[in-house]
Amino acid sequence: MKFVIASNNKGKIREFADILHELGFDAVGQAQLGHNVDPEETGTTFEENALIKARALFAELDGDLAAIADDSGLAVDALGGQPGVYSRRFAGDDGDDAACIKKLLLCMKDVPDEKRTARFVSAIACVFPDGSETVVRGTCEGTILHEVRGTNGFGYDPLFVPVGYSQSFGELDAETKNVISHRYNAAKKFGQRVAEIFSNSQN
Ligand code: IMP
Repeated sequence: MKFVIASNNKGKIREFADILHELGFDAVGQAQLGHNVDPEETGTTFEENALIKARALFAELDGDLAAIADDSGLAVDALGGQPGVYSRRFAGDDGDDAACIKKLLLCMKDVPDEKRTARFVSAIACVFPDGSETVVRGTCEGTILHEVRGTNGFGYDPLFVPVGYSQSFGELDAETKNVISHRYNAAKKFGQRVAEIFSNSQN
């Protein structure tokens, strides 16, 4: 079974495919197979939006292909969990990372260090070739910096320092981020779920 990733975000696809490969899955971005789904994310939770994306891609797939999608974002405690499911659209519909970072820094300008806690959240949804579905969630706790640091990763990475580290995701290399991130934690749960599904189907 091959997994096709329902995303057009190059940074996310690279990271997601690397993590899935590490866990032993065969995964490609949808563009590699000529797909370009980008449904409106009308859900109010990460899980709902991940399912919307996986279902939209699955409707275009044939054969032994599974559609997999991650809906992810940053939940900042001092902002009541915002930007949350609106992380990509925080500064407008075009999903401009630099504008999102600028807006977040402005919203957080008077927030003291001890109140700058946040977490990245990733929900991974999959529609398997037989039409069955599964959704899992992973998180990564951390804090929000007062200014950007580093150029690695994508999105809010230069502003986020994961718990237990002094460098931001923008400074840490991909190998380090990919074994502590929200997406990795969700993908690990997904791998366990797939193993359970297969062992149940063989019993
Ligand atoms: P989505 O493509 O609708 O799931 O939007 C995800 C958005 O959340 C991205 O555009 C980023 O702004 C943010 N985001 C999600 N995961 C990460 C990450 O690993 N690093 C930095 N930003 C992220």
